[in-house]
Amino acid sequence: MKTLIVYNHPYSDSFNHALLEAVIAGAKKAGHEVDVIDLDQDHFDPVMTGKDLLAFRDHQVLDPQAKDYVAHLQAADHLVMLFPIWWELMPALTKGFIDKVIFPGAAYEYTASGYGMRTLLPKLRSTTVITTMNTPKLVYRFVFGNAIKQALLKGTFKKTGMKNIKWFNLTMVKNSTQAKRKKWLTQVEEHFAKK
Ligand SMILES: Cc1cc2nc3c(=O)[nH]c(=O)nc-3n(C[C@H](O)[C@H](O)[C@H](O)COP(=O)(O)OP(=O)(O)OC[C@H]3O[C@@H](n4cnc5c(N)ncnc54)[C@H](O)[C@@H]3O)c2cc1C
Repeated sequence: MKTLIVYNHPYSDSFNHALLEAVIAGAKKAGHEVDVIDLDQDHFDPVMTGKDLLAFRDHQVLDPQAKDYVAHLQAADHLVMLFPIWWELMPALTKGFIDKVIFPGAAYEYTASGYGMRTLLPKLRSTTVITTMNTPKLVYRFVFGNAIKQALLKGTFKKTGMKNIKWFNLTMVKNSTQAKRKKWLTQVEEHFAKK
């Protein structure tokens, strides 16, 4: 089994980085081969240029970095997306990954009607999104409509035909105790060790 982790955080002593290490440790315990795309370290360009957009129309990925990411995605059995919530949604690099890699002709295709979508990732068994934020869970849910669930889990992954989509949302990270954060790291590692 191959687990692909798409990671987006700009500095290496962050809590997100500790979560990355927990996912890697867990997946390795489960005997998985681990592949990490570090969008910040790669200096991934999230901008969809005019040429990229014309290529979107023609269902051909143009950006060489995005093309390489598509190959990693097509080889994966499990996908993990890990990032902090910024302004209720994902940081720009993760948004760019969605725009330029979850691409027609690469990650999905349209059904005959032209409206429906079906996946082009037959190998992919599951997708797990891990987010961190400072907002309390209920506020994010009832005031901000669980924006990441609507936009990413339903509006992107489910819509393009991905299966077994899960979301772990670690809330009030800044105000949590060190012990609570350590517990989350252990729980995340244990979750991936069981997969
Ligand atoms: C532009 C921007 C917009 C934002 N918008 C929102 C928003 O809309 N809603 C919202 O809720 N939040 C928002 N935030 C806050 C953001 O979601 C949090 O700052 C982020 O999720 C925290 O994750 P981090 O990895 O950056 O944590 P860090 O800041 O790196 O760390 C958080 C805490 O964890 C501790 N820590 C680090 N490593 C470990 C470890 N190994 N074990 C235990 N503890 C550790 C740190 O010491 C610190 O106390 C925004 C932030 C930015 C920059």
